[in-house]
Amino acid sequence: MPWCEPCERFWNPGSVTRAGECPTCGAAVEAPSEVDAPTPQRVPWHFWLAITAAGVYLAWRAIDGIALLF
Ligand SMILES: [Zn+2]
Repeated sequence: MPWCEPCERFWNPGSVTRAGECPTCGAAVEAPSEVDAPTPQRVPWHFWLAITAAGVYLAWRAIDGIALLF
């Protein structure tokens, strides 16, 4: 957790500047944002499976709905 000595307060890792400085006084805080930044999560394969299934279902419902008109 980045701690600013002059301001005497903790900063959220996302609140400090990219250089790891306090946004209020500009002093270097203990942890640079790169160290504490959360790693971007990979989208799991079953997410795309669910999206594909939903797309196929909606396409089928659309075809079925159009077919009812004739
Ligand atoms: Zn500060």
